Amino acid sequence: MHEWSVADAVIRTVLNWADDKKIKVKKVVLGVPSFSFLDVEILKEAFDMMKKDSVLDEAELEVRFKDPKFKCKNCGKEFSLNDVKDQIDSVRSEFGEEYPMHFMPALAPSFIKCPYCGSHDIVLESQDMTIDEIQVEENGTVKTVSQG
Ligand SMILES: [Zn+2]
Repeated sequence: MHEWSVADAVIRTVLNWADDKKIKVKKVVLGVPSFSFLDVEILKEAFDMMKKDSVLDEAELEVRFKDPKFKCKNCGKEFSLNDVKDQIDSVRSEFGEEYPMHFMPALAPSFIKCPYCGSHDIVLESQDMTIDEIQVEENGTVKTVSQG
């Protein structure tokens, strides 16, 4: 049921933002942490059910997964999985395709070290879901509004 509350929150946020503007929302881009275990199909289904009879009536929901971010507690630098790709690759070759990080990025700090100072004292940064873009039609013109 998590997906339904997410869809509800997204719709409320957009409706609140749209307020009484004379617009039609065409698309909403939601940024979702890749390890949030959301079922995108259920989320879209919930969105489509709940958007009816609003400015979101024609809106399509697009989900973009965000890469997990890590922070080194030793030097304070932030990095993504891509920055430690070499390390991931060597872990992967050790464990094969079933390598644990594939399922649990939260375990990554046990396997990888900071690419800047080499410390293992790293934490997975918590990420929030964000509405990254809203595409609206206003007076027949479609424009994209980026949310900061
Ligand atoms: Zn570091």
